[in-house]
This record gives sequence, structure tokens and C-alpha cells, in this order.
Amino acid sequence: MVYYYLAIKKHHMTENNNMKKTEEEWHQCLTTEQYKILREKGTEAPFTGKYYKSKDEGIYLCAACGAELFSSEAKYESGTGWPSFFQTIEKNAVAVKPDASRDMYRIEAVCRKCGSHLGHVFDDGPKPTEKRFCINSASLKFKKMSSEKQAKQTNDKRQHKS
Ligand SMILES: [Zn+2]
Repeated sequence: MVYYYLAIKKHHMTENNNMKKTEEEWHQCLTTEQYKILREKGTEAPFTGKYYKSKDEGIYLCAACGAELFSSEAKYESGTGWPSFFQTIEKNAVAVKPDASRDMYRIEAVCRKCGSHLGHVFDDGPKPTEKRFCINSASLKFKKMSSEKQAKQTNDKRQHKS
């Protein structure tokens, strides 16, 4: 039992150490805008980001550490000017924390792996989750679905129809 506990503890420590970058290091690997949003909880102006209109199929990764956060299948047009998702790619991909900054009570969404700020979560999303993950484009990096996978999906859809 003790050994088991120690093994887990050790694993956690290595994981955290990998992601513990100094602010100097973050500055080096992020653009000025990304740094402002990811590390200083900034918000990009609506309708200006790279991904708010995007309908491409693929996966959205954390721009800071590359962790998989959202699938394009959960992306929807919210009209807010920010990329919006009704769920995360995996239950634990995104952590949420209360955020009382700017005289508002909001729920902040952060990358579970590196702790970077992504955006906020609201309760006015579509069914089935009714959640709206309102995410800055600058916090995301899009990975297009490979053409192989896309072909397979199209095939699956065709089979469903026949
Ligand atoms: Zn991250």
C-alpha cells in the first residue's frame, strides 16, 4: 500500500515538474498575445480570433503545452465571437475554477496539464450539456483531422444512410 502510494506520488511530481516553466520560459515559447491570455488571464477581442468561425474537422490543443482539449464535433456557433464548445474532449482535459476578477463571478477554464488560462464556462450552452466553453482562439492550436480519418468518417456516414 505504501509503495503504491509512493509510486503515484512520484509520478505526479515528475508530471508537474515537466510543466513547471518559469515565466521567462513561457515568454520565450509564446507570442506576446498568447502570453497575455494564457498566463495573465487576458481575453482577446471578440470576432478577431483565428478560430471563432472555423468549421474544420479536427482537434483543438492547448497552445501552451499541446494537450488535447476540444474536438471540432463539440464546437458550435454561439454568436459571441469566441470559439465555443459544449464539452471537452475528455472529462478531465479542462479544469474549472471560480474567478471573481473584474467584478464578475465567473467560472474560469484552465488547461488541466499546464494550468494555462483558456477562457470561461457558462451555463447557456446547447443540449445535452448546456455548457458553453467560451475559449480564446489564442489559447488554442488546431490540429486538422488526417485525411485518412476523414475518409473513414465519410464512409461510416454513407453506411449509416444506406
Ligand atoms: Zn496546457
